[in-house]
Amino acid sequence: MPTYKNSLKSKLPEVPTSIFSVMSSLANEHKAINLSQGFPNFETSKELINLVNKAMLSGKNQYAPMPGIFSLRRAITTKMENLYGVSYHPETEVTITAGATQAIFTAIAATVNKGDEVIIFKPAYDCYEPAIQLFGGVPIAIQLDPESFSIDWEEVKKVINSKTKMIIINTPHNPSGRVLSEKDMLQLEAILKDTSILLLSDEVYEHIIFDSETHQTAALYPVLAERAFIIASFGKTFHNTGWKIGYCIAPIALTKEFRKIHQFNVFSVHHPTQAALASYISEPENYLNLGSFYQEKRDLFLSYLKESRFKFTPSKGTYFQLLNFENITEEGDYDFAIRLTKEAKIASVPISVFNTNNLDTKVLRFCFAKTDETLKQAAKILCNI
Ligand code: PMP
Ligand code: GLN
Repeated sequence: MPTYKNSLKSKLPEVPTSIFSVMSSLANEHKAINLSQGFPNFETSKELINLVNKAMLSGKNQYAPMPGIFSLRRAITTKMENLYGVSYHPETEVTITAGATQAIFTAIAATVNKGDEVIIFKPAYDCYEPAIQLFGGVPIAIQLDPESFSIDWEEVKKVINSKTKMIIINTPHNPSGRVLSEKDMLQLEAILKDTSILLLSDEVYEHIIFDSETHQTAALYPVLAERAFIIASFGKTFHNTGWKIGYCIAPIALTKEFRKIHQFNVFSVHHPTQAALASYISEPENYLNLGSFYQEKRDLFLSYLKESRFKFTPSKGTYFQLLNFENITEEGDYDFAIRLTKEAKIASVPISVFNTNNLDTKVLRFCFAKTDETLKQAAKILCNI
């Protein structure tokens, strides 16, 4: 007879299973084309796989140093220098993490105390809010305009007060594909100047940016850089989301606090992969063509969808495309996404789950990090809806 009486009080009573798990397992169950969770359905580079094999065979199989191997940290600072002309110290300002998710969690854990307010913009990637709440922080959500997804900086000014501890931005933005402009960053600088508010800049789609847009990293703006945790993910850049390696760049004082948590959170991350990435990332062509690679996929997908009843504005970055279905059905986006998966055999993500009070704007998110053949098949289904 079991005797354990479960009196556990949930720390996150409102939090459901992540939409990515829900939709991917539904897609698998119903054998649907899975354009829901964001991951490529093509392989990462053979060269990179060989480099990991080589690292394993050459004995890189014990703990890596706690902040990550030095050669990878230095390759990252060299890349920042070459791309943006900014200099970070590899020893004291870069930490290799188990994906961007752990970096985000750790940055929040290291800084947010009970009662601290953290400003986030909705629709927001799903890992920010629970992490803030776990450490007693209060998420202050600003709902973005459902068409432009642009940030009204006057609204930001209005919610800032003495309890504001941090602002979280994400550019290119998941799920909308919107990118922040230089003007946005300058406005944010003007707001944060002379305050002690921290910035968490989620830049995991740094290299997946289209048309004439350029990535505005917080590192380029001194008032932002001095208070920013800049977070990136190799999973997006090198088509290996399952490897879960990312990093956090932050000034020395912030990195010091970050590592105090990181060392007890994971201590260090997969050693052979770090060794492989250190050498692979040193060749800029391994990431500089990513924008044009995904832009072609976006354009291909959208060219097929011209015949459909969905409405859309082309994504400016990330590997996601939003499709508005108000011409098709009055169903809620969640119900529609479930029905499309089960009946039409195509899975997507309903945007309401990322919005304040699950605001339903009749929009679904589709991931186009797929082979051209998959995109063609998916579009054929969508054109028949
Ligand atoms: N931030 C955003 C905006 C993301 O889209 C993702 C994952 N797709 C992450 C963070 C997490 O990245 P990782 O898989 O490296 O943990
Ligand atoms: N970031 C990916 C997305 O937006 C999913 C990552 C995950 O499954 N946690 O689809």
